[in-house]
Amino acid sequence: MATRLSGKPVAEAINAGMMADIQALKARGIAPTLAIVRVGERGEDVSYERGAMKRCEMVGVGVECFALNAGASQQQLLDVLENINRNDKIHGVLLFRPLPKHMDEHMVCQAIASEKDVDGVTDQSLAGVFAGREQGFPPGTPAACLAILDHYGIEPSGKRVAVVGRSLVVGRPVSMMLVSRSATVTICHTKTPDLPAVCRRADILIVAAGRPNVVDHRYLSPGQVVIDVGVNVLESGALSGDVDYERADSIVEAITPVPGGVGMVTTSVLVQHVVEAAKRAYP
Ligand code: NAP
Repeated sequence: MATRLSGKPVAEAINAGMMADIQALKARGIAPTLAIVRVGERGEDVSYERGAMKRCEMVGVGVECFALNAGASQQQLLDVLENINRNDKIHGVLLFRPLPKHMDEHMVCQAIASEKDVDGVTDQSLAGVFAGREQGFPPGTPAACLAILDHYGIEPSGKRVAVVGRSLVVGRPVSMMLVSRSATVTICHTKTPDLPAVCRRADILIVAAGRPNVVDHRYLSPGQVVIDVGVNVLESGALSGDVDYERADSIVEAITPVPGGVGMVTTSVLVQHVVEAAKRAYP
């Protein structure tokens, strides 16, 4: 059986690690605070919002919610973001996406001040990830993948890594972060020839395809570490990853479960970024 790389202890360690920083900031009269900006009432946004608020409360980080109705104009949203940028009591912004179709999502994201971009949605943050510079923040999910590897003592340096998925939210940034950690990374997508063979050769396999069980035994080999980023809601209502966990369990060395893996760490990383943003604002 493969080692189960559960997200819970990773999230707990991240939470514990930021307590001292939060206390030190509070002792200086600074209360690290996250602004959550939501347009409309999509169920997944509302439930993620609840989870993020709970996680913030647990560690003593403040939250301010800005909810606009689904028909709000782009200018109204930009005004909200501008006020947040100017508000020095707010240190980070989480903007739920996708935005309604009548808005230019890329343009709106760029309106977030990069020093408050704790979810890594601005071009400046992504440039920071690609250049290996501390500029904005990396998106939470790739950072969570790295946090899991680090927590379980899995060193990417010198390893062959295959990443399935090339989105700007997961695939590309996680690939760049792993290159910065001296891994040799192959970024794969739907046009990759002989994808199973490319994946089988990897020491670390990161899957962010958004297709339930797309990675089966043909993609896996003994000794591998598998990070399953996928979150898919099946017809039954159950959650599934992108990797066939049952098959993987009898082949690979270690694997993250879904649910209970990467997703569990992502929220803690977001909160950690808020604390870091507050520290950077008041060095
Ligand atoms: P996305 O924008 O849809 O990108 C999916 C990527 O996977 C694309 O690059 C696509 O290739 C590739 N792909 C899809 N099917 C493939 C296949 N059969 N073979 C090879 N490549 C394939 O998705 P995303 O936003 O990156 O999210 C990916 C998954 O991660 C989703 O399940 C999402 O729910 C999950 N997610 C989880 C978290 C978390 O915290 N756990 C956070 C964010 C996302 P092409 O470019 O060629 O189309």
